[in-house]
Amino acid sequence: MQIKKLRKKLLAVDPGITAREADGCLVLEGETDEWSKVVKAGRLAVDKKRYLGVVNDIRLKGYVEKERRPAVTDDSLEGEQVDVLIIGAGISGAAAARECSRYRLKTLVIEKGGDVAVGQSSRNGGVVHTGISFGKKSLKLKYCLRGNEMYTRLSEELDVPLERPGQIMFIRHRFEVPITRVVKWTGDRKGIPGIRYLNREKLAKIDPAVPAWAIGGLHMASGGITCPYKMTIALAENAAENGVRFCFETMALGMKVEDGRILSVQTNRGTVFPKVVINAAGTYADRIARMAEDQTFTIHPRKGSYLVVDKKKGHLSTSSMGKAPYTISPYQDAAVKGSLKKAVGMLLENIHSHSKGIAVIHTIDNNILLGPEAIETPDRESTETDRQTADTLMQIQHEVVPEISRSDIITYFSGVRSASYEEDFVVRQGIRTRNIFEMAAIQSPGVTAAPAIAVDIVRWAVDYLREQGLAVEENEDFRPKHRFPPIVREMPDEERDALIRRDPDYGEIVCRCEEVSRGEIRDALRSSLPVYTLDAVKRRVRPGMGRCQGGFCTPEVLRLIAEASGMKPEEIAKSSTGSEILKGPIRPREGEG
Ligand SMILES: Cc1cc2nc3c(=O)[nH]c(=O)nc-3n(C[C@H](O)[C@H](O)[C@H](O)COP(=O)(O)OP(=O)(O)OC[C@H]3O[C@@H](n4cnc5c(N)ncnc54)[C@H](O)[C@@H]3O)c2cc1C
Repeated sequence: MQIKKLRKKLLAVDPGITAREADGCLVLEGETDEWSKVVKAGRLAVDKKRYLGVVNDIRLKGYVEKERRPAVTDDSLEGEQVDVLIIGAGISGAAAARECSRYRLKTLVIEKGGDVAVGQSSRNGGVVHTGISFGKKSLKLKYCLRGNEMYTRLSEELDVPLERPGQIMFIRHRFEVPITRVVKWTGDRKGIPGIRYLNREKLAKIDPAVPAWAIGGLHMASGGITCPYKMTIALAENAAENGVRFCFETMALGMKVEDGRILSVQTNRGTVFPKVVINAAGTYADRIARMAEDQTFTIHPRKGSYLVVDKKKGHLSTSSMGKAPYTISPYQDAAVKGSLKKAVGMLLENIHSHSKGIAVIHTIDNNILLGPEAIETPDRESTETDRQTADTLMQIQHEVVPEISRSDIITYFSGVRSASYEEDFVVRQGIRTRNIFEMAAIQSPGVTAAPAIAVDIVRWAVDYLREQGLAVEENEDFRPKHRFPPIVREMPDEERDALIRRDPDYGEIVCRCEEVSRGEIRDALRSSLPVYTLDAVKRRVRPGMGRCQGGFCTPEVLRLIAEASGMKPEEIAKSSTGSEILKGPIRPREGEG
């Protein structure tokens, strides 16, 4: 679109918004009073043919950003020289770290949170996507297909659970069957294996939760489910076992860039001097690109929430499923009743929705997730869930699995997707600054795609380092295998008895809801990564993830963390320094001093 035309359109959104061209990008500036206008302007400005991307600098009147920052400052990294500095330890950063450890490189990962997987990577559905909803030329499709294929080997190597029950998209009307054939045809052309149209009887053999209104649907066999934070932990632990260093509560604050090269990165723990930087900062990736003087995209955070259903209802569904985007579900019927215009509008909304709209997901841990929705928000770290969202999700899912009621919900969580206005991943070497490599705008299907993206990014970074004269050798000692400690509740009786005889700590149950023993919590604390927060233990072995949500086990978990780390219980935080749980010392147990 010509810039003059765009300016005219922006005027209609808000007269306070304007656009200019700069360094191959479209830069939006000005101020407005609604976040929806900021997003609308960003979307209007997308022109992939003429511009590298949209840099949206429109301010939202009165909005003050609440970026979480580490509470610690020291000089433990001052003057540190590294070959590769990875910013962010979500699944992207962890996968890149593991790829780096295949080479003899000095690699440092900095993460502003108190553990790996504190951003989107622990706040998602864990679906290993098929790729059906992505455009043929998109990077999302390219890396989703490669990542999906990699998952089988990766989960074996890293000891991370993976199941492939497939994904189901239900349809409701006979006239939708031919549309389904077209979707299958395009899916086949995209290279997605195992897509079939099945009638409701055949679908019911795969998943018992076929809704009463569905006449059939598409089953996509390559769809899977994993534990996203376990995958992130395993990738990071394996990288650490192979020599990568991780520093938590360490935030990139600024960069010194000269002649198209990052010379140094300032952090709250001193200045680091990297040869190469990998940007894996999730919802802040555009800020990191700006520090590196290489911003060509903007993240507009998009929030999604899930309701978590108790395991006792886990048997109700076995796969991930939802209605096809080209069907109007009974839930939407009421909204469109009697109005063809509304019906068409709703259909178009469904098809163009930026959420893949999965309603029911059977998790690897036998819970069911209901969600997510897609809501634009200026808050890049929003984690709260509101009543209205919960009500909407309950209503939508009710048409798929009506047996689930409100009392089956044990908790809620939300995550924020790092969407760019171009709605595609940014995976490339820096354009103006050559020693930055972008793993940016990694929104869904990022869990699926990150391992594949990391392969390309690290290969390009190694090529660049070699071009610069560094002799990067392969790491012949690289060990791809990672093992998690044993999970006692999943062991056969005899094996469990033998383990408990060897170490009675495995027989002492600390978390009754999830049946987690003291021995398992001690194992989690012996990770190759620093583990010193309540959430870090919870993500590894699940104390606090059950129905009582930590009501009983938290004091004992705090005690065990204190014992392993030498910290006082009142110094132990929920997620990172600054979120300490206790106000003062806890009362000693009987017999303790
Ligand atoms: C609701 C929802 C549902 C989803 N469902 C799925 C799904 O089912 N399947 C799927 O494949 N994908 C899904 N996704 C997408 C997937 O979760 C993400 O694409 C993926 O987790 C992105 O990982 P990341 O490492 O790039 O980002 P993140 O996990 O967000 O990690 C970025 C890290 O960078 C850190 N950081 C930021 N700034 C700095 C700084 N200045 N210094 C140091 N550290 C910094 C952050 O603390 C954070 O830990 C979903 C996402 C959401 C939100």
